[in-house]
Amino acid sequence: MDIREQLSFVRCFLLDMDGTFYLGNRLIEGSLDFLAKLRETGRQCLFLTNNSSKSAAFYQEKLERMGVPKEFRNVLTSGQAAARYAVSHFPGKKAFLLANEIETAEMTALGVQVDQEHPDYVMIAFDTELDYRKMTMLCDHVRSGLPYIATHPDFNCPTETGFIPDIGATIAYVKASTGREPDLVIGKPNSGIVEETLRVTGLKKEEMAMVGDRLYTDIATGVNFGMLSILVMSGETTAQMAAESPIKPGLTFGRLADMIPYL
Ligand SMILES: [Mg+2]
Repeated sequence: MDIREQLSFVRCFLLDMDGTFYLGNRLIEGSLDFLAKLRETGRQCLFLTNNSSKSAAFYQEKLERMGVPKEFRNVLTSGQAAARYAVSHFPGKKAFLLANEIETAEMTALGVQVDQEHPDYVMIAFDTELDYRKMTMLCDHVRSGLPYIATHPDFNCPTETGFIPDIGATIAYVKASTGREPDLVIGKPNSGIVEETLRVTGLKKEEMAMVGDRLYTDIATGVNFGMLSILVMSGETTAQMAAESPIKPGLTFGRLADMIPYL
């Protein structure tokens, strides 16, 4: 199948944001032209992020500031996907929630009920307001054997000033203290977040493609789920990394705009 034919099946592009659509606070050249082409050809997109320290509304406002039309400002965070999973799989149950104020508000608005003292399950997000008291409570609840869910697996979060420790570091800390790892991790490259995209879009996986700049999260998501994966070289992956990685994308482009002639 040639490139145009492979892309002809795609009704919705699942788009990573940083390194794919923008870099920090700067749009990657041609990203808005890519969206214009989606509109012209009757396609949609859904922005996916593993970052569960910020709400979907935060990203929607950022995309709006960058000139993204309203119809394309669809965002799904691993926090939202995890909250919806918990609400449907633990109905009426209460969570011990490790999350910052923003994410706690988003998850409770989605129906997650919280009881930090006597929970039925444990849910952890990227808590940028972490302290020793919370970590002790978390380890107590995990050690007691409650179901244990994490929003995503990333060890570090890139920022303008370098890496900051992400939820993967918290997971490792809990493992060292309790011997347990999460029973379920929702975000990329796991299937939980993709299953949520199927639910919100009403599409089949054959009608979607995962686009991103990271091999071990974005591209692995597509590979693990049997979905077309598209690597863009506008972020962290170098030609050498792509050549050496065992994780191989279905298609590779320099940046999103380079896909336009094939849509
Ligand atoms: Mg990225």
